[in-house]
Amino acid sequence: MIPYGRQHIDQSDIDAVIAVLKSDFITQGPVVPQFEKAVSSYCGTTYATAVNSATSALHLACLALEINSNDVVWTSPITFVASTNCVLYCGAAIDFVDIDPDTYNISIPALKAKLQEAYTNGVLPKAVIAVHLAGQSCEMAELKELSLQYDFRIIEDASHALGGVYRGSQVGSCVHSDITVFSFHPVKMITTGEGGMLLTNNQSLAEKIELLRSHGVTRDAKKMKQAPDGPWYYEQIDLGFNYRMTDFQAALGLSQLKRLNQFVSARQEIANVYEALLKNSGFKTPKVNEDICSSFHLYIVRIDTSKLNHVSVFERCRTRGIGVNLHYIPVYRHPYYRNLGFDFQKFPESESYYREAISLPIYPGLKKEQIEYVVDCLLSPMGHQTLF
Ligand SMILES: *Cc1c(COP(=O)(O)O)cnc(C)c1O
Repeated sequence: MIPYGRQHIDQSDIDAVIAVLKSDFITQGPVVPQFEKAVSSYCGTTYATAVNSATSALHLACLALEINSNDVVWTSPITFVASTNCVLYCGAAIDFVDIDPDTYNISIPALKAKLQEAYTNGVLPKAVIAVHLAGQSCEMAELKELSLQYDFRIIEDASHALGGVYRGSQVGSCVHSDITVFSFHPVKMITTGEGGMLLTNNQSLAEKIELLRSHGVTRDAKKMKQAPDGPWYYEQIDLGFNYRMTDFQAALGLSQLKRLNQFVSARQEIANVYEALLKNSGFKTPKVNEDICSSFHLYIVRIDTSKLNHVSVFERCRTRGIGVNLHYIPVYRHPYYRNLGFDFQKFPESESYYREAISLPIYPGLKKEQIEYVVDCLLSPMGHQTLF
């Protein structure tokens, strides 16, 4: 089976993990801050906090921005459920803005229209979660401008986009946002097994995030509410979690980060091969906006449903050993979210995306012959008329 994505582990990664396993610290120790510093300097951000998943990172981002049961948060429906579950964890409400028909990221015109309406009704969002689908940044400058006009905060769910660039800044720089979140799940740009990170340039947000990562407990006398009872003393001053990353995971991440630029180039090269092979084929290939560099975590094409049957294309690819996928089912379609009563008709672009999208295999190490095999499988049935 050719999967849609997979990790790239080499001997240097294995050696880095073994070195930590032989050291004194295997839970959070000295390597976690080294990894944090390496990612924050790669992205050009002041603060970074490593956690045990991007899901935890998104939860902490919402808590740090004090999102609570009085609030509503907006995002785009074409994302993984973790992007919206984090809002519900905080007791807040979620609402959706339709996607751009070409990038599949949050649509700026749709957002503008919805903000205007929300302003009139007095129910503006506390925050917008910008999901950088497939590794292409959202239009952050426009989003930032709207956030100033309508006074909302911005979280970037950059789970796909480590290594991407937006108008000269690395994704994660937080030039246009409060907090950026990365995932280090094995299919993502670099991996720590499970893992995530929050980046910010805001010191008080960074301190809050660090506190909540570890039970809300502090050992810093300056942050304590009472005088220490003795040298053993620590204080819980907020309700936090155990969302820590282990040192051996951080060692893997640090080692992987050294190859990130290679990973990005390899993915961009694969994207170029697909683009060339699929030219004039009837499949709609990804469009990357001007002044944006996609990390190409995913390679999503759309089929022409007047000529091809979506389900049949999936079945044929899977039968032939190609692990195509669909990223993603619109979040509001999941039974849990259906119960919250969203009207599908409000998201026509997301609905038509869902009828047409396919993620093709893309990962460092995918061979040219494999790409050709995938494209063959997509194109050959067109001539055979065995489509429906
Ligand atoms: C993978 C992913 C997440 C969750 O990441 P985990 O590290 O698995 O918790 C969140 N949002 C998006 C868009 C993702 O792709």
